[in-house]
Amino acid sequence: MRDGKFGFGLIGASTISRERMIGAMNDSGVALPVAVFSRDMARGRAFADEMGIPKAYDRLEDMLADPEIDGVYVASTNERHHAEVLAIAAAGKHVLCDKPLAMSVKQAEEMVRACEEAGVVFATNHHMRCGAHHIAMREIVRSGQLGELVVVRVVHGALLPAHLQTWRINDPATGAGAIMDLAVHDADIIRFLTGDEIVEVSAMSKNSGMGTDRIEDTALAIFRTANGTLGHIHNVFNTPFNRGSIEIHGTMGSLYAVDNMGQSPGGTLHQRDAQGEREIPLQHEELYVRMVRSVVAAANGQGEVACSGRDGLRSLAVALAMLESAQLGRAVAVQP
Ligand code: NDP
Repeated sequence: MRDGKFGFGLIGASTISRERMIGAMNDSGVALPVAVFSRDMARGRAFADEMGIPKAYDRLEDMLADPEIDGVYVASTNERHHAEVLAIAAAGKHVLCDKPLAMSVKQAEEMVRACEEAGVVFATNHHMRCGAHHIAMREIVRSGQLGELVVVRVVHGALLPAHLQTWRINDPATGAGAIMDLAVHDADIIRFLTGDEIVEVSAMSKNSGMGTDRIEDTALAIFRTANGTLGHIHNVFNTPFNRGSIEIHGTMGSLYAVDNMGQSPGGTLHQRDAQGEREIPLQHEELYVRMVRSVVAAANGQGEVACSGRDGLRSLAVALAMLESAQLGRAVAVQP
């Protein structure tokens, strides 16, 4: 605790921390970024100075021993998450880990188990759950207004900004590619909206000019859920004019969310049914602020995290099944 607020340690002098998460912690009113751990002390110190963070460490164990740190936000490249989360849990600190949680389902299971055994909160930073359109859509689905769900469609594409065209498109060891980067979010939001599990996927992927030979920048999957709903996900790194959208179609109504797949609040939601078409009014809120507040509340025993470690495990399982399906050229069952 620092000034009565939840003290976050950050793992990695990362872009997402610089552009989103440090601001979200500061704006949350309940948390503060207290320290950053970077493998490179000069980079960590410069990052801390730039972002107004009091402390920098270049040994994770030193940051984890800092009594002002209540929890750790993990924003390193994906292959580091597993070992780092195990170390955080062993130190008895709460965890907010970015996606994809790990490189394998087995690793993610170990992370979930370690946090459960340590009695610490484990959240996954699937921020889209915090979007006003998605919260409203989930309520409408739950109310039964759409009838039986038949088809779901998620379009998740944009232009990967030039400063992020690094490991995501050229380093397989990091869990690179559009599927590990984007499809995990889609799998999670589908689970969140439908309350259903994706059980089978059939995927294709390709390079559209940004990825290297071994790493896809474009992917498309069809899927089936446990309740029998069919759906389609599309992920792409190099379509700058792609708006991003979700459609949910049921036997009694349909929902259309547009411009809803980004990191900032905004976008619209329309409902169509026998009464006609109407726009659903939304109270937009900063997505990552909502996520941070949920982690702090859960750590204080006052609620659930917006997205749990188990949720992150499930979204990872779907993305890995997509990768396998694209490679094998056939449908793949998602690891239960
Ligand atoms: P970055 O490439 O910006 O940072 C990743 C790591 O690379 C950092 O933690 C840092 O670790 C290291 N690093 C930073 N700068 C350099 C450099 N100049 N040279 C060498 N290493 C460097 O990644 P992102 O911030 O884009 O992503 C981090 C994680 O967050 C990923 O897991 C990603 O999937 C996730 N993410 C989630 C988003 C969401 O909306 N939920 C959005 C964006 C990313 P260190 O300082 O220890 O060396």
